[in-house]
Amino acid sequence: MLYLEAIENPVFRKIGEIADKNKVRAFVIGGFVRDYFLCRPCKDIDIVVDGDGIKLANEVGKALSTKVTVFKTFGTAMLRHKGMEIEFVGARKESYDFTSRNPQVERGTIEDDQLRRDFTINALAISINKENFGELSDPFSGVSDLDNLIIRTPCDPDITFSDDPLRMIRAVRFATQLGFYIDEKSFEAIERNKERIKIVSKERIITEINKIMCSDVPSIGFELFDKTGLLDIIFPEMTALKGTQIRKGKGHKDNFIHTLKVLDNIAKSSDNLWLRWAALLHDIGKPRTKAFDDTHGWTFHGHEVVGSKMVPGIFRELKLPMNEKMKYVQKLVFLHLRPIILSEDIVTDSAVRRLLFDAGDDIDDLMLLCEADITSGIDSKVKRYLKNFAIVRQKLKEIEEKDRIRNFQPPVTGEMIMERYGIGPSKEVGIIKERIKNAILDGEIENDYDQAIELMEKIAGEIYLEEKN
Ligand code: ATP
Repeated sequence: MLYLEAIENPVFRKIGEIADKNKVRAFVIGGFVRDYFLCRPCKDIDIVVDGDGIKLANEVGKALSTKVTVFKTFGTAMLRHKGMEIEFVGARKESYDFTSRNPQVERGTIEDDQLRRDFTINALAISINKENFGELSDPFSGVSDLDNLIIRTPCDPDITFSDDPLRMIRAVRFATQLGFYIDEKSFEAIERNKERIKIVSKERIITEINKIMCSDVPSIGFELFDKTGLLDIIFPEMTALKGTQIRKGKGHKDNFIHTLKVLDNIAKSSDNLWLRWAALLHDIGKPRTKAFDDTHGWTFHGHEVVGSKMVPGIFRELKLPMNEKMKYVQKLVFLHLRPIILSEDIVTDSAVRRLLFDAGDDIDDLMLLCEADITSGIDSKVKRYLKNFAIVRQKLKEIEEKDRIRNFQPPVTGEMIMERYGIGPSKEVGIIKERIKNAILDGEIENDYDQAIELMEKIAGEIYLEEKN
């Protein structure tokens, strides 16, 4: 059977013709072919040739009048054409040294190249030479694995995973992204080889974890990491969330299971990767704050504070960006209890203003996180929480329209105070600013210049400050 539909784009015929002229075999291989069978759109095309990939790329570049970027160290070359990224590589054979995931590479046949691929579903290749244009090469039954939703290595999985341990993380990533199952033998090999992950750079690992985070049901990945034993090595703070304890007949929920439910919930309502990270880390401070007393049972007091303090360390360790994304996650972890506390009480304007002030533009994300955090199995409880949140949301809207607190800038600045009273930066400036801010948030005065100036004068009098002239 010929798979002409997969390669109907005229660029494949063109590349094939040039390969024919060079008397080399050429195939489209890997993700593009896999995604064709899965009906997933794919703009990244990998071409493998029995020969010199860079030479072929240069000739194709000339024919298409596009620039070719050559990566000499990798023996690959890339060009862009009509929104596609086409990468060329000569077929290779690999041999590994135990201490590194970077292999010794030598020229090989297409069949050698397929053998070095990570999974059977990624080893599929379709010929683009004229003679057998559209013919599928599937030496390891990758199509059958696609049909049966199986992730399986082409070779002995112990060797595949030990050679390049990143493949263990990739197995989990594909299982999560595609909703596939890791074949039993491959799974057991991951369990046996898990310690080998330590030779892989954290940057490579986090790229895969972020792909898991962006999947429809990201919990699958973390459950697999846990079951294979990888989680404790790559992300021990998550394993610390596991388990439940009973004392004097009182138990607490398993925070690992809860966290994964929250993550899946947020994945249903938002594509924002960093909001998903906030969901994953929202209870990360719980193990460190866990306590028991006879009156309250299990408590996790201050876990939002401890958790938010853990965020920078976790980001650094996992090689996530130490920028405003980290600050955003930290802020959401810190604030994640506020809406729920608010909704359990009478929702006062003042409390809503303070929440708006502290959350700023991230208020909507915070509300999504809090709604995702409701994972109780008891229907009446869930309904009550959601009803209370609806009240909080309504109140947030009203107050925001009325008081414009979200990106609140105090109407009286430190400079204005210093100028008026002829003083430098000092405790007094701080006192006045803070009291004006609180007065606005508590609704004592409006978010208005004249009212703020009036209050400033009153406070200045109280602390014996005199106007400059
Ligand atoms: P996605 O398109 O979702 O990023 P992908 O696997 O298709 O995933 P790449 O990571 O660019 O995209 O890999 C392209 C191909 O290279 C894969 O399909 C696979 O055949 C091969 N490959 C990638 N990484 C490895 C690896 N660590 N070991 C063996 N083969 C690999």
